[in-house]
Amino acid sequence: MDGTRVTVQCRNCSLAATYDRLRDARTAVDDHESTTGHDVRWEIESLDAGVSQAGADAGVCGRPGCANEDSPLVDPEPPEPES
Ligand SMILES: [Zn+2]
Repeated sequence: MDGTRVTVQCRNCSLAATYDRLRDARTAVDDHESTTGHDVRWEIESLDAGVSQAGADAGVCGRPGCANEDSPLVDPEPPEPES
């Protein structure tokens, strides 16, 4: 599927790979686990909805100085409020 990225990472060795197809990632994970018995974890990211979702979660709005202002602890007072 376009716009999907799967990050595969093994907890027991240095195996790490990124696939743009879920099926490829699943095959690689199954193969590695079945041959080595390792515990492989994978994370599925959608580049379409995922990026915008992650951006919203992080409070990234695209303005300079507004890259990580989601937490009030980081920046309790906006230095220059836009009017
Ligand atoms: Zn491994």
